Amino acid sequence: MGASCASFYANVVLHKWEHTFVLIPPWKQYILFYRRYLDDICILWGGSQDELRQFFCYINSTTNFLQFTHTVDPHELHYLDITLYKDYTQNVFHLHFESAHPLYQKRGIIKGQLIRASRICSTQEEFELEVETLQALFLERGYPLELFRTLAGEVSSLRNSLYPPILGKGSEALINSASNTLVHHTNSFAYTYSSNSKEMEEIIMHHWPVLALFEELKDFIPPKPSFVRKRGANFKEIFERKHDSKKKVKQPRLGTHRCGSCAQCHAISNESSLYIPSRNFRVHPTGFYTCATKGVVYLGLCTTCQSFYVGKTERELRKRIYEHLYDMAKKKETNAFFKHSLSCPGLNIKFTVLEQVELDARGGDWESTLGYRELLWQLRLDAGRSPGLNGTISIKPVLKLRRARL
Ligand SMILES: [Zn+2]
Ligand SMILES: [Zn+2]
Repeated sequence: MGASCASFYANVVLHKWEHTFVLIPPWKQYILFYRRYLDDICILWGGSQDELRQFFCYINSTTNFLQFTHTVDPHELHYLDITLYKDYTQNVFHLHFESAHPLYQKRGIIKGQLIRASRICSTQEEFELEVETLQALFLERGYPLELFRTLAGEVSSLRNSLYPPILGKGSEALINSASNTLVHHTNSFAYTYSSNSKEMEEIIMHHWPVLALFEELKDFIPPKPSFVRKRGANFKEIFERKHDSKKKVKQPRLGTHRCGSCAQCHAISNESSLYIPSRNFRVHPTGFYTCATKGVVYLGLCTTCQSFYVGKTERELRKRIYEHLYDMAKKKETNAFFKHSLSCPGLNIKFTVLEQVELDARGGDWESTLGYRELLWQLRLDAGRSPGLNGTISIKPVLKLRRARL
């Protein structure tokens, strides 16, 4: 087969040859499986050894330009550059019966193996032999003989309908008839298996006849419900899910929040970040604050004209807000917001925390530090210059802090 066209010619010739001499009666009935690659042919023979010998004599007599050699082996088959083995994958490594798995799973393992045996064994004798082998394997793994025999009987009785051999005489007819009797699970109740499954199914079974009483439904519902159980979460998944759910807990948004239970909540800015256009400065909060947070440097921003005031309080922010609102109501001239209200008719002040100064355990110079941080914010935002409302900025806090630290 040296020339590039040789394979093409070989295919044409052998195609003609196989359809003229091989895939015809009486041989066709013995050929369970037939595949050819160029001039290499793989056949699963369903007849006797004698018939096979006759077949070889016959095909070698069909042409004088082809000479066939053959190998016969009931266990393995060399074809092209691969070797096919009879399936020895069934072994003693099945789940042990003592395992804590639910019984239905263990039954499923046995039944699965029996169905597999029924499908791959073309003759009844082979099937019975296979069942015996399986029985020994399962007994060795602690399965009760009674259970195995019950399931073997069940599969055997369905061998001509639901579980016909894949290959074998008349298998096509069997397969066709099987597909008619197969249970269709499209209307099954699919759910995740749990320890309550048995009770759930019993309740559904118990009340099933009630559905048949409905005229509109009775044509659509089967006489008995069928259930499809999905595997529940295993330990690994349960733990991972718990772990994940922790991750998914929504982190509260950083910034100043309304506490939801005080009279000053309305004066808290709802924005996650505040922008002061005159200073081209955006406040990015670094902590979670509420009206009740103590020891803060805060910003009071007039949302109408963007004027702002930077202040501090050692007490809860809401107490300081209350004082501001009180002073404004009392028209106290020393209050920066009241003064601003005289020139800003639509005045609307919203407060937000710029920074919290945590009280350190030793008490220390907390108040001085707070004053100092307030000063830094006032300088950073240039709060003494319009539209800043702080007026003159005193550097006293720096001196105070210095003194406190000396
Ligand atoms: Zn509040
Ligand atoms: Zn204003």
